[in-house]
Amino acid sequence: MVNHSGHRPAPLFIDTDAIDGQLPPELRTPIRPDAFDTAEEDKITAIAGHFTAIMQELGLDLADDSLAGTPRRVAKMYVQEWFAGLNPAARPEVKLFDNRYEYHEMLVERDITVFSCCEHHFVPIMGKAHVAYIPGNQVVGLSKLNRVVQYYARRPQVQERLTRQIGYELQQSLGTSDVAVLIEADHLCVMSRGVNDAHSSTITADYGGRFATDETLRREFMRQIGK
Ligand SMILES: [Zn+2]
Repeated sequence: MVNHSGHRPAPLFIDTDAIDGQLPPELRTPIRPDAFDTAEEDKITAIAGHFTAIMQELGLDLADDSLAGTPRRVAKMYVQEWFAGLNPAARPEVKLFDNRYEYHEMLVERDITVFSCCEHHFVPIMGKAHVAYIPGNQVVGLSKLNRVVQYYARRPQVQERLTRQIGYELQQSLGTSDVAVLIEADHLCVMSRGVNDAHSSTITADYGGRFATDETLRREFMRQIGK
């Protein structure tokens, strides 16, 4: 827990050798320790080879000039875009500034685009994240809130873990537990297969500090994000 004067809590689970070592073990994405021992280019080449095998098994003719470049396109998209947030080198540095304006009300950054990928089906999860915090002695540059969301979204994910990863990371880096994260998202695996429900969406939330204990504050957050 954190006091409200903005002091950074001593992180409890730091394991600098582990990927996601900034997070407690139960919130880490299951990544092998050797995940980044392979150079990016070699990884793309290997994945392109595996994707070629999938397409061939489906019976597609890779000599067709529309399909020929697909394995490498997919491999690059996986490594450099969809799953770029697996790489700890991509973790955004969250710089804080003195809260010179003495702004101590809730700050809400809403409608942050979430583009993620269901780790059970490898199809997109698309939606919006709404993030709020109450500044202590320091404030953060607003775009950093978007960047933290994007970093954890760009991985194979489940929405529950994504929500808690963002909440925990923001509590640590903002030096306050007064953080709220709410994500509303559509899962293509629900929309396009299985129950084939194109209209349901999934809402998850993580409330820390005063957001967890103060119902009026939580209601105000909901009102701000139009809920
Ligand atoms: Zn799924």
